Amino acid sequence: MARLPSVDRLLKADAIAPLIDTFGRVETTAAIRNTLAGIRKDMAASGDEPPTDTAILEAASEALTQNAAPSLRPVFNLTGTVLHTNLGRASLPEEAIDAVAAAARGASNLEYRIGEGKRGDRDEHIEDQLCAMTGAEAATIVNNNAAAVMLVLNTFALGKEVPTSRGELIEIGGSFRMPDIMAQSGCTLVEVGTTNRTHLKDFAGAIGPDTGMIMKVHTSNYVVEGFTAEVPEPELAKLCHDNNIPFAIDLGSGTLTDLAQFGLPHEPTPMEAMKHGADVITFSGDKLLGGPQAGIIVGTKDYIAQIKKNPMKRALRCDKMTIAALSAVLRLYADPDRLVERVPTLRLLARRVDAIRGVAERIGPALAAAVDGFGSVTDTACESQIGSGALPTRRIPSAGLAISPNAKSGTALKALAEAFRALPVPVIGRIQDDAFILDLRCLEDEDGFTAQLPALDLPR
Ligand SMILES: *Cc1c(COP(=O)(O)O)cnc(C)c1O
Repeated sequence: MARLPSVDRLLKADAIAPLIDTFGRVETTAAIRNTLAGIRKDMAASGDEPPTDTAILEAASEALTQNAAPSLRPVFNLTGTVLHTNLGRASLPEEAIDAVAAAARGASNLEYRIGEGKRGDRDEHIEDQLCAMTGAEAATIVNNNAAAVMLVLNTFALGKEVPTSRGELIEIGGSFRMPDIMAQSGCTLVEVGTTNRTHLKDFAGAIGPDTGMIMKVHTSNYVVEGFTAEVPEPELAKLCHDNNIPFAIDLGSGTLTDLAQFGLPHEPTPMEAMKHGADVITFSGDKLLGGPQAGIIVGTKDYIAQIKKNPMKRALRCDKMTIAALSAVLRLYADPDRLVERVPTLRLLARRVDAIRGVAERIGPALAAAVDGFGSVTDTACESQIGSGALPTRRIPSAGLAISPNAKSGTALKALAEAFRALPVPVIGRIQDDAFILDLRCLEDEDGFTAQLPALDLPR
């Protein structure tokens, strides 16, 4: 039986130069060695003759290309969930992307006051904007809203008690559970009221010398309906102020714009929370705000100053790219007339069903051709949702395309979803009612979508 070529011999082949140019000598040598090892094993099992040198190098090149591909890749989010946490939540406006690139490329005045030639504070880049928009006296930001909540709790209630309504002990995803967050922040949760009804007297009865603060948590991913009662925020604020403790509200999504303009129900805003007397308010940067991942904390000057002095703040602080992006997004909010058109999250939520139907009409034929012989494509009405816990029970009418396999089996449906995920830019849809559904609300790059359809590899 013929022998496999040596690594040395392959490294001397003409076809090796471009590989070394692209991937470097170390990686290329390792790939050749791995490829040879694989072939050697196959040959031992099959008794086949060795492949040609060219075929071995091609296999090595393929492995190198696969290894070099970034793990974090763009995908088409056609799930119908606009803010999909697993798919990266908000897409940034172009203005924010440019700002991130500029901040990433070189040195900046991140913590430096250019006029004075002195050290500054990174929050200065966003604080005025946040105050102007929310009516707060001061603001700071951290890595995400979970961090913001922990920082607030840790600042005002380390070793102290935090009375919280039993109706608000939320879990957001597996690891963010309010009782655990309180414990990890060094606070003692004092449950008050019941699941469906909590009254002012419940809170009043729970306040004592060991109370650090009261935190109201927006129940962002569920609703309690029926015989319910919660304490109005102004009354909780007054109770806190009478007892000289801070009143904090965790809004979760915290939109800065009125969602009614998109035909959606009202979602509480930081501005309203301020007006209701909250001292500290936390919300996410990458939920309805449509910016980068960040936890935004706005509030009174004194309380925000205390938060900034907490050593945990340093551990949770934002990167310069986040600050650049958030500042750029907040600048867009200063021009409400063009806001919806420029912030992708709002643009996608505001997209009208007839416009989405237009997308279905334009890409439908290409999709039908791509699945020809495997299944058929029909227009379908569907329902999008905001995602990330905002207005959890509310669906937004949308339009999509449903692909039904000719073979009516779960295997065929799975194969369909898999083939779409295997495209160069994976397409993520959802399986529902024996069809693979693509909700087109979030499809803006129609050409990019159709251009890769010929690569769709279905078992026909
Ligand atoms: C989403 C959410 C959080 C966590 O925010 P992240 O930005 O995901 O860290 C905290 N509280 C509420 C009420 C939320 O909805």
